[in-house]
Amino acid sequence: MHPHLFTPGPVEVPHSVRAAGAAPLVGHRSETYFALLEEISALLKKLLRVSQPVIAMPSSGTGALEALAANLLDPGDSVISFSCGAFGDRFREIASRRGATILPVDIPRGRTATPSDVRRALEQHPSAAAVLFTHNETSTGALTDLQACTSTLPEDGPLVLVDAVSSLGAVPCFPEDWRIDGLASCSQKGLLTPPGIGIVALSERGWKRAASRPSPSYYFDLPLHRRFLEKARPQNPYTPPVTLLYSLAEALRFLDEVGFERRFADVERTARTFETACESMGLSLFVKEQELRSPAVTAVTVPEGRAEEMKRALAELGVEVAEGQGKEPMLRVAHYSPGGWPELCLVAGSLYGAGRACGLELSPDFLEPAWNCWKKGACPQ
Ligand SMILES: *Cc1c(COP(=O)(O)O)cnc(C)c1O
Repeated sequence: MHPHLFTPGPVEVPHSVRAAGAAPLVGHRSETYFALLEEISALLKKLLRVSQPVIAMPSSGTGALEALAANLLDPGDSVISFSCGAFGDRFREIASRRGATILPVDIPRGRTATPSDVRRALEQHPSAAAVLFTHNETSTGALTDLQACTSTLPEDGPLVLVDAVSSLGAVPCFPEDWRIDGLASCSQKGLLTPPGIGIVALSERGWKRAASRPSPSYYFDLPLHRRFLEKARPQNPYTPPVTLLYSLAEALRFLDEVGFERRFADVERTARTFETACESMGLSLFVKEQELRSPAVTAVTVPEGRAEEMKRALAELGVEVAEGQGKEPMLRVAHYSPGGWPELCLVAGSLYGAGRACGLELSPDFLEPAWNCWKKGACPQ
């Protein structure tokens, strides 16, 4: 049986998106392809509410992060790196391998950077060249309030670079409104597409910086990607994954038809209802402060030493979730799929079943509180 994916990437891909990828290939220097890339580019700009070009290129999310580091950082740059989990650590390591001098700010897992953390770090390091943030820390299920954090930075302050791999397409993310200079994401999470496409958006300031010297990366030379995208017939410098781009275009059309605002509200409603179901069952959530809980992924605490067994029990029921990425015993459940209440019952009910199969004492009375939450649209914070 096809497992139901509730992993925080890859995610369950709508049938129309998969089917789009099965269409016959066209050449990437053909009129059909130019039109496809133009459509993708316009929809990505609409989703992100940006005026600057957005690059879609072959890579996973990590490749998009590497592209930011290669094009916007120089060896010796001082970089303030906020990390509240595994992905914050990864972005830091990528910047470090680019030769940046890292000024680390470690936030306890399950929490996020706050405006006062940002203010304090900048006071200590006023000449920092860049600040790194993780929008949605997928390893703990915590969402950083980027808008609040960046509003404390001066206009001519450090460049702001953001890992938006697990937030784009699921959570509001508006880099130009939030004065973000470099944003990295990819296809296989909030954008409901198979893995393989990296997405990068730079601000005007970011593009100026990238254009100020030759890119040290041949493949991820962002100004080169931009020049090809801005030709009269938009294209990529190197062979793109054409059929994946068919799928991405279809997914973006789908999300645009739903309406991006509506999509963000649906994801949030699903997460809040799932949180209610878990707590009503007797399971606790890893992120304690409600307002920090991610709409995209929920980390559910399980008894010490039981995460692997629970994950296996869920897999036997046909449901795939992720374990934690650190020492904490947890299961991570994603809410990207647009399946609504029936799908929510599938994962919450399966979690209950798996817990009982593993001998956990769980309350069966989670359905009524979950339904009440769902009915409201989203639980009050
Ligand atoms: C998934 C994820 C990544 C890594 O993405 P890959 O596509 O596996 O390279 C990076 N950052 C965050 C926050 C993620 O959730």
